Amino acid sequence: MRGTVLYGPRDVRFEERVAPTIIEPTDAIIRISATCVCGSDLWPYRGINPVAQPTPMGHEYCGIVEEVGSAVTSIKPGQFVIGSFFASDNTCPNCQVGYQSSCQHAEFVSTAQAPLLALRRHGHRLVRRRRGQREAGQDGRGRR
Ligand SMILES: [Zn+2]
Repeated sequence: MRGTVLYGPRDVRFEERVAPTIIEPTDAIIRISATCVCGSDLWPYRGINPVAQPTPMGHEYCGIVEEVGSAVTSIKPGQFVIGSFFASDNTCPNCQVGYQSSCQHAEFVSTAQAPLLALRRHGHRLVRRRRGQREAGQDGRGRR
């Protein structure tokens, strides 16, 4: 599959990358529907943050579940999901009290600008869009 890779300031390449597969039972593979360039992508792109090595890009995304590991029960193939900048495990004390953004096992998602994304050990943390649920802001009242 092809995806974006940042090589250095103003040097983004679209090149061949290895398609992810399920390795751990808690992994999930997402077929990306939409991803974007985030403000935090711009720091290394502009040369403000150094780029030590070619780095795949993309950490904000949504898409269709392609495959899940045997321990992932909250989502299944074919469902539309939205992921977070940081994948969290939803099992540590911080997650249990509702601070998934401070997960003790958080992993930075950084390969979403490609057709497929693997979420290692955190596939169960994706948010599934429920039938009839509107996008935030569609009805002028924000997220429901
Ligand atoms: Zn956690």
